[in-house]
Amino acid sequence: MQQGIQGKVVVITGASSGIGESTARHLAKLGAKVVLGARRTDKLASIAEEIRAAGGESAFAAVDVTREAEVKALVQTAIEQFGRIDVMINNAGLMAIAPMSQLRTDEWDRMIDINIKGVLYGVAAALPHFEQQGGGHMINVSSVAGIKVFAPGGSVYSGTKFAVRAISDGLRQEMAGKVRVTSIEPGAVDSELKYGSGDQASREAVIGFYQQAIPADSVARAIAYAIEQPADVAINEIVLRPTAQE
Ligand code: NDP
Repeated sequence: MQQGIQGKVVVITGASSGIGESTARHLAKLGAKVVLGARRTDKLASIAEEIRAAGGESAFAAVDVTREAEVKALVQTAIEQFGRIDVMINNAGLMAIAPMSQLRTDEWDRMIDINIKGVLYGVAAALPHFEQQGGGHMINVSSVAGIKVFAPGGSVYSGTKFAVRAISDGLRQEMAGKVRVTSIEPGAVDSELKYGSGDQASREAVIGFYQQAIPADSVARAIAYAIEQPADVAINEIVLRPTAQE
């Protein structure tokens, strides 16, 4: 595997805002070639253009991570534009907080589809290339909610983020010696994520809790730390919270 960040080809899902956008900008500044995916292509186009204007290398493609073929096509964009993929960051996510008794099964479905199946489709898209290239780095964005359940309201979101950690550790064990696997577990980070619930009372409670949130760039730096390690070192988990968060 190539060392450091310079020259690495990094694919990022959910790159149109928040953690994904910050990570794309940060890694591009450090010399990575970044490939941005999300549904809002107008946002991706302007972020990719700003990265290029600042001297970086970038590409983008529309992707809905709940559609396996589109995630595969995003990785194919990296192969076509830059010849390889070194790092896959499965970051796209939805947090729809609400008490389970409200039975918002549509939001449960969305969270399972985006947060779990989206990560799995990212694994499926990148892994064959990693195996063919003789290495690679899978980074999955879980959450502090993947370590601790915040109830009432966070049960299903937590379930998806526990799943991301479980899938990450299983993949790590299976691919030891071939693929590095990192699970990122942030606490409250300032982004659009806090607006994800259809339940107004829950949404307002989340917005209140997020007053202590730290900037998305904090997570971008943690991700860069995992990528920049020498090839024989795998950072398997990073937990970071606002200092003020209990
Ligand atoms: P944002 O809401 O700002 O970003 C979410 C990103 O995911 C957007 O770029 C959005 O783009 C994309 N996305 C959502 N649904 C889909 C989809 N179906 N297909 C493709 N892309 C999709 O939130 P964050 O940046 O905060 O979230 C990023 C990750 O970090 C998530 O997995 C979240 O759970 C996790 N996280 C966030 C924390 C926080 O406090 N903010 C804490 C812990 C973890 P678009 O709408 O254009 O498709």
